[in-house]
Amino acid sequence: MTSRTDLVEELMGRFPHVPREAVLKEDLLRGGLAFDDAALTDNEHGDVKPKSYFIFSFDHRTLPELGTAALRRPPEEIVLTGGPYGLRRTVVSVRTNPSSPYRVGTDSDGRLRLFLDGRPIADVGLPPMPAYYRHTLANGKSVMEVAPTIQWGYLIYLTAFRVCQYFGAKEECQYCDINHNWRQHKQAGRPYTGVKPVDEVLEALEIINRHDVDRASQAYTLTGGSITSQVNGLAEADFYGQYAQAIEERFPGRWIGKVVAQALPRADVQRFHDYGIRIYHPNYEVWDKRLFELYCPGKERYVGREEWHRRILDSAEVFGPRNVIPNFVAGVEMAAPHGFTSVDEAIASTTEGLDYFMSRGITPRFTTWCPEPTTPLGRTNPQGAPLEYHVRLLEAYRATMDAHGLSSPPGYGPSGPGRAVFSVSSFMDTLPSTES
Ligand code: SF4
Repeated sequence: MTSRTDLVEELMGRFPHVPREAVLKEDLLRGGLAFDDAALTDNEHGDVKPKSYFIFSFDHRTLPELGTAALRRPPEEIVLTGGPYGLRRTVVSVRTNPSSPYRVGTDSDGRLRLFLDGRPIADVGLPPMPAYYRHTLANGKSVMEVAPTIQWGYLIYLTAFRVCQYFGAKEECQYCDINHNWRQHKQAGRPYTGVKPVDEVLEALEIINRHDVDRASQAYTLTGGSITSQVNGLAEADFYGQYAQAIEERFPGRWIGKVVAQALPRADVQRFHDYGIRIYHPNYEVWDKRLFELYCPGKERYVGREEWHRRILDSAEVFGPRNVIPNFVAGVEMAAPHGFTSVDEAIASTTEGLDYFMSRGITPRFTTWCPEPTTPLGRTNPQGAPLEYHVRLLEAYRATMDAHGLSSPPGYGPSGPGRAVFSVSSFMDTLPSTES
């Protein structure tokens, strides 16, 4: 049997132009990592910033199956350096998997390291508790609950609506655990506000603004589940738009405002722009037509793939193509039983989608699929997609970008190995170095 170390080193050897950091990061994102108890946090009372569960669980087990990591949360992210691969600084989002061959623990010299198959492969740094997490709102809620930050403090993640109105097997996206994640936090008795009141969001942002003296936070993302009817009497654009309007009135231009929402009609998109939002993410999820219909049944029924794509192009006329950044979930193309069975086919399909958007000046981005166990695709594919797919996607992404003369998308912080902070994919670690 080939070990995971063999697999990683084989791919590092076959794809020398993909940074080694990116190969490891993709493997950690697709398969997760385990933590020794000593490497867990003391939740909101310690010196390390805990995992906030900002929208999905991004774990390979349910909370009750995580053992101590369910009581003392793992860190939000880790940063890797050094080791036998000479890693430059690499920020990785934490996806917990007690069965992973990757483990964070203390080495014989007392330092925290990442082990693969029992061998230390990197020094591990943990995110310091930000000063703003030590303050609470007037009603006692924590800043982490209302306005967590990710990407090493760069991005404030505002999940305003923590469930999705695409509900059940016939509507939910087949790789998404937003509704389950909400249920499991409620069942565990954790604070997990379903609909965040606008004034709580403003109060949390006020605290961040006051205590983030180095101005590490540069952007916010307004997001949450899709709204097919109404929430508090508001349709999707009005619901998310109210936060954008309030934030930009109170803190004009303080952060780069981004919205992740469905591909909405042009008039709705225009309202986001008018409120001061600068970047729009109408995520297209997966390119292949058959897979989109199977994996996103709600979106297919309510909007439809062709209309979804047409709206993405329309929104580029409102925001400018550089500022429309639709996400796709990298890896689901290869999920059994319906996905592609060869990496070649999956990469060809994904590249066709990249080419479609990039030829129009729109730069998609991706998050690495985490096969959460309560989702249909996670249940049937607990190993996720092959690491080779993820490595070759990085190669294809960069090549397609170069072919269309595009550079790293705005609103993601610095790019390049050793510099990137975007933590849920390594595409920013793979692009040429830039400051912001
Ligand atoms: S639209 Fe799909 S991916 Fe988005 S929150 Fe709903 S179920 Fe999840």
